[in-house]
Amino acid sequence: MTANVAEIGHYINGCTTSVSTGRAQAITNPATGLVTGLVTLASAREVDAAVQAAAAAFPGWSRTPPLRRARVMFRFLELLNRHRDELAHLITAEHGKVFSDAQGEVIRGIEVVEFACGIPQLLKGDYTEQVSTGIDNWTMRQPLGVVAGVTPFNFPVMVPCWMFPIAIACGNTFVLKPSPIDPSPSLRIAELFKEAGLPDGVFNVVQGDKVAVDALLEHPQVAAISFVGSTPIANYIYETGARYGKRVQALGGAKNHMVVMPDADLDRTVDALIGAAYGSAGERCMAISVAVLVGDVADRLLPRLVERTGMLKVLDGENPEAEMGPIVSRAAHDRITGYIEQGIKDGATLLVDGRGFDSAQAGTGCGGGFWLGGTLFDHVTPDMRIYQEEIFGPVLAIVRAKDFGEAVNIVNTHEFGNGTACFTRDGHIAREFARLIQVGMVGINVPIPVPMAWHAFGGWKRSLFGDTHVYGEEGVRFYTKQKSIMQRWPESISRGAEFAMPTSQ
Ligand code: NAD
Repeated sequence: MTANVAEIGHYINGCTTSVSTGRAQAITNPATGLVTGLVTLASAREVDAAVQAAAAAFPGWSRTPPLRRARVMFRFLELLNRHRDELAHLITAEHGKVFSDAQGEVIRGIEVVEFACGIPQLLKGDYTEQVSTGIDNWTMRQPLGVVAGVTPFNFPVMVPCWMFPIAIACGNTFVLKPSPIDPSPSLRIAELFKEAGLPDGVFNVVQGDKVAVDALLEHPQVAAISFVGSTPIANYIYETGARYGKRVQALGGAKNHMVVMPDADLDRTVDALIGAAYGSAGERCMAISVAVLVGDVADRLLPRLVERTGMLKVLDGENPEAEMGPIVSRAAHDRITGYIEQGIKDGATLLVDGRGFDSAQAGTGCGGGFWLGGTLFDHVTPDMRIYQEEIFGPVLAIVRAKDFGEAVNIVNTHEFGNGTACFTRDGHIAREFARLIQVGMVGINVPIPVPMAWHAFGGWKRSLFGDTHVYGEEGVRFYTKQKSIMQRWPESISRGAEFAMPTSQ
């Protein structure tokens, strides 16, 4: 089954390593179901080799002036732009998402690299002259050392880019552990970074699963871990990393609600719901998976939504007509169809059933792959599993609320708090929504409010474990530690020992 397929290894100390004879995992094209590669899964020994390479590179890289680090970043940015489509094709081949969406993912990743190019300005410290007579006080931010990133399958370029450009620009060296489901883009990124002039060992990629992640968590030379993935694993990473004395930010899962008020523009709301619920087959942590329809909205909106969901163009991601591609894997497909069965059993009304969809309709011509159509449930209630749990697939749940207060309460009671949106024309409602909602990222008539590179990304409640959000200035803070220096010179020191707490004189 795996003869003549690409072998995907690690990238350690500036070289692609040959694939070990140890454990490996098949890479599958989700559109066809065919195995296209075999990714090696690191043992603790291989993780250690990557960490040692990063540790050896740290003294030189951290001493490199920020301006010179930024120049490497500028060249990297140029190469990324030149190879944008190549990266997007790699994403579509292993993840399955529609090519134009993959291009969008690459661009959102590139935006963080653009932000990291400004690192000299971002690392500028504070300075106060004359905090007391003859004494000055200033702060500087210094890198942590070797830092690691563990990333999910759903954004194999963008999510790593949330982490390593800022970490490396700050002077750290980095070990990335991407998802074994779509590992190829990270290797290409590593090659481009080297071409940009990054010294060997500053950016390393280890392929792997829990074994590699545990080796990173336990490694004494890893100072910090950024994680993005499902909530149970995020919780585990946070607790284990903290136990091993590391700085951790761990972003978890989501259940994002869109509240639709009776005054919303219904055509635009339907368009927004279709894109946000079914784009990337719902495999986005900011996908809308619950629409809370307030008052009489349901009667007016649902007929249009049902019609549009049934018309979704579910096609091979390389087809320019495609609106939605396949599900990433057989396991994910089975999990999602399991939730659909559960929803029916729990009494929700299935308005559109995506389970009948197959590869013949998708036009791949080969009869395989992991296909589902868009699925829509009405009359979903908070006690149902399809409401409580993250499905991470093209399944949209309709919940009904009598008024704005009830809608806000529904959103705020959910255990996740990643993203949310409110569709309305009423400025006061919009303002109250933004103020009252217990969610980290909020859209007003914007269905997927992913913050720009200079604002940070992060949810609340069980969607984020740790204190800082990723990228933006929060990212700079996460990847550096602050030092405060207080200085005076003999001419301004009075004679005699001081026994009292010094105060400003
Ligand atoms: P996942 O949690 O299965 O895997 C994420 C990473 O953790 C991968 O690198 C994986 O190899 C590793 N991993 C898996 N099991 C592990 C274990 N037992 N111990 C240690 N490491 C382990 O997530 P996924 O399926 O790749 O991605 C989808 C999930 O990621 C969804 O829950 C989605 O909401 C979430 N996500 C969140 C954000 C966010 O910003 N909050 C962004 C993207 C994705």
